[in-house]
Parts: sequence; structure tokens; C-alpha cells
Amino acid sequence: MERLKNKVALITGGARGIGAAITKRLAAEGAKVVLTYSKSAEKAEAIAAEIIANGGQALAIAADSIDAQAVTNAVNKTVAEFGGLDILVNNAGIYIGKAFEEHTLEDYDQIMGVNVRALFVAASAAVKHIPAGGRIINIGSNMAENALGPQTTLYTMSKAALSGFTRGLARDLGKNNITVNLVQPGPIDTDMNPAQGELADFLRSRMALPEYGKGEDVAGLVAFLASEEGKYITGTALTIDGGLNA
Ligand code: NDP
Repeated sequence: MERLKNKVALITGGARGIGAAITKRLAAEGAKVVLTYSKSAEKAEAIAAEIIANGGQALAIAADSIDAQAVTNAVNKTVAEFGGLDILVNNAGIYIGKAFEEHTLEDYDQIMGVNVRALFVAASAAVKHIPAGGRIINIGSNMAENALGPQTTLYTMSKAALSGFTRGLARDLGKNNITVNLVQPGPIDTDMNPAQGELADFLRSRMALPEYGKGEDVAGLVAFLASEEGKYITGTALTIDGGLNA
């Protein structure tokens, strides 16, 4: 099903994990995709090459989310390359898990810079281009509503900030017929949160469906929101966490 034919999508952090699954899914739905990366140049280029080999259009761009100019440039390059921008997926994120007393100001700046500030920067640049019917989809975390345990304060704070950002922006952009939503994954098997990692059994013990999800599960929800079928959903958070927060 090519629900996104003729659409252009920009996915931040699209080289690995959930972002890679979103990039591939939106491309499979017919979108022209641009993915950003900071460290994973090879993986990003390989994903773009795979999409092109399958008949799609894709471009990988280096853009460290901490660097506002790089993020703005990625938006502008997307428009220059593909003639527009319809769907912005703010996926890039980092986790810093530490006892509260060990968190430094540098940790704060890093996590808020990548998980919050960069979304503001990307959206600010993107709204100059996104037409009516466009989409902004932010990737948060179920932890915004359930900190789950100690050592999560800065991450939880950063992801909770996204619900305010999403609600406010949805109201600002409603007049332009652009929807803005927050997707809040729970345990998804990636480098950030491996299904065989230290915390995995604890997380499974708290879930209604005690299995980790896959990037593809989140990508399916993002594709739905990005499609015409998602047009009446805006300003809300959709949690996809196997019932961890239930
Ligand atoms: P991974 O650690 O597997 O991948 C992180 C992605 O973000 C990579 O593509 C990475 O790119 C990119 N990224 C990190 N820092 C930067 C930066 N400074 N600039 C640009 N890109 C950056 O994480 P996940 O795929 O698991 O997470 C994706 C999103 O989902 C994040 O926002 C995360 O918080 C959220 N999430 C994940 C959950 C999980 O269980 N996995 C649960 C809840 C939320 P590069 O390699 O190029 O640096």
C-alpha cells in the first residue's frame, strides 16, 4: 500500500533502531525520505542505498541534533532536494541513566539539546515549508507518564517536555491543517534498550504483553499517523508500550 506517494518525509536519527524502521516504512509507503545521522554515517548511507535500489528516493544527511544550524540545514536541504517537506518525524534521542546526584550540567544540556531543543529547531525550520495536510510526529517515551524507577530523571523530564510541545504546536498549526502528535514507545528492542539488556526482565515483568516491541511496530503507527487515515488525530500522545503503563 503506497499511502504516502508524492510525500516527502524527514526522519531525524534514521540510521539505527526505531528511526531506521520508520525510514524504511515511510519509503515503502511511497514517500521520498531524508534521514539524518550524527555518528552512523555508513548505516545511514546503506539505508538510503537500499531504498534507492528498491526504486525509491532517499538521501542521508549528516546533522548532529545538538547543532541547531545543522538541523535547520537538513530541513532546507530536504526541500531543495525533493521540492518540499510534508512529514517531519523527530525521532533522534539519547538516554542518560544515572543516579540523580551524578547528573552534570553537561548531561542536562546534552539530553535537553538532543531530546527537546532539536525538535523545536526542526519544527521551526519545517513549518516554513510544510503544506496543508502535513504532519509533525514526535517520538517521546512511555516514561513521560511513568518514570518506572530511579536513574531516569533527566530522560523522563526531556520526554515529558514533548507532551507540552506537541499540544501547543498542534494548536498553533491547526489553522494550517497540519497535525502534530507524540508517539510514546515503551520497550523496543534497539541499541538503546536491548531485549536482552540488564533492565529487560524487569521491564517485561511490568508489561501486559511481556515481550519487547520492534522498531517496525512503532513505524506502523507513525505511517498511520502520516497517512490520510490519521488526519483527524492531533495534539495527542499515542503510547505503544505493550501495556507497560497500563
Ligand atoms: P538508538 O539508540 O537505537 O538510536 C538512536 C538514534 O538517534 C540513532 O539513529 C542516532 O543516530 C540518533 N541520534 C542520537 N543522538 C543524535 C544526535 N546528537 N544527532 C542526530 N542523531 C542522533 O535508539 P532508539 O531507536 O531506541 O530510539 C529512538 C527514539 O525512540 C529516541 O527518541 C528514544 O528516546 C525513543 N524511545 C526508545 C525506546 C526504546 O525502548 N528503544 C523507548 C521509548 C522511547 P547516530 O547513530 O547517527 O548518532
